[in-house]
Amino acid sequence: MRIRHIKGVEEMIAAEPLIIQKPEEYKGKWRSEIFGNDKPIYLEVGMGMGTFIRTHSFLHPDINYIGFELNTSVMYKAVTRYKKELEERMNKAESAEDAEGAKIAENVKERASGAGPAFKNLRFIRSNARFLEEYFEKDEIDRIYLNFSDPWPKERSAGRRLTSPQFLKLYEQILKADGVIEFKTDNRGLFDYSVETIPASGWRIDAITYDLHNDPEMNAGNIMTEYEEKFSSKGNPIYKLIACMVPAGNMPEQKEDKK
Ligand code: SAM
Repeated sequence: MRIRHIKGVEEMIAAEPLIIQKPEEYKGKWRSEIFGNDKPIYLEVGMGMGTFIRTHSFLHPDINYIGFELNTSVMYKAVTRYKKELEERMNKAESAEDAEGAKIAENVKERASGAGPAFKNLRFIRSNARFLEEYFEKDEIDRIYLNFSDPWPKERSAGRRLTSPQFLKLYEQILKADGVIEFKTDNRGLFDYSVETIPASGWRIDAITYDLHNDPEMNAGNIMTEYEEKFSSKGNPIYKLIACMVPAGNMPEQKEDKK
């Protein structure tokens, strides 16, 4: 997807309090200084326009979320959409008709009334995932979402894939011991690559599907991303895996028995 650069976007981003301007200053302090609580932190790397993470944040006030994105214009759009939806949900809080809408409205109302965490459960970082280790301490992150990550199909660019051994090493540096990665994509090449690199890097694949939307167990509670909406509406199957770090010395059983 080609994103047109929005004029003046750098200044807008620099002035946006929801985007943490110097994330390195909060290394080891995200819970105490940014979120003001001890709840788990879930990070989405390459969130795009942020539909997935902002919906999660409305549904789960007991989790802290961080949306991480490289592209400045995309980040600006994600934050703008978040603020717009927040306002719409507050306005609609009284009239939510469906069960999910009612649950979100209840969360939003509670937070608006001051009873809840006052919309403090979603923040954003505009940066490259290569620097994750500079922003987070070991054990600071509970879960990492990778959704429809860029496939970088050429072999010489393999190190840029967000499931490459280089990135998996970085995730190890910030995730807690039983932390997990949830990865979904419609790109079979990237998925097959990840099914190889993840166990080879000392992780265990705990769950895997080659057709998420027709897998009732793994699809339960699934929240679609923008890319997922687009590609599944064209009939593409969506692949998903959940992987967990394995303590050093305990190499995982291999993927054959996990399929
Ligand atoms: N996750 C969204 C979705 O599923 O709709 C967006 C998917 S889009 C194909 C990939 C996104 O990852 C882009 O917005 C891109 O800018 C971002 N991205 C790619 N490499 C990144 C990196 N190293 N660090 C942070 N974001 C990255």
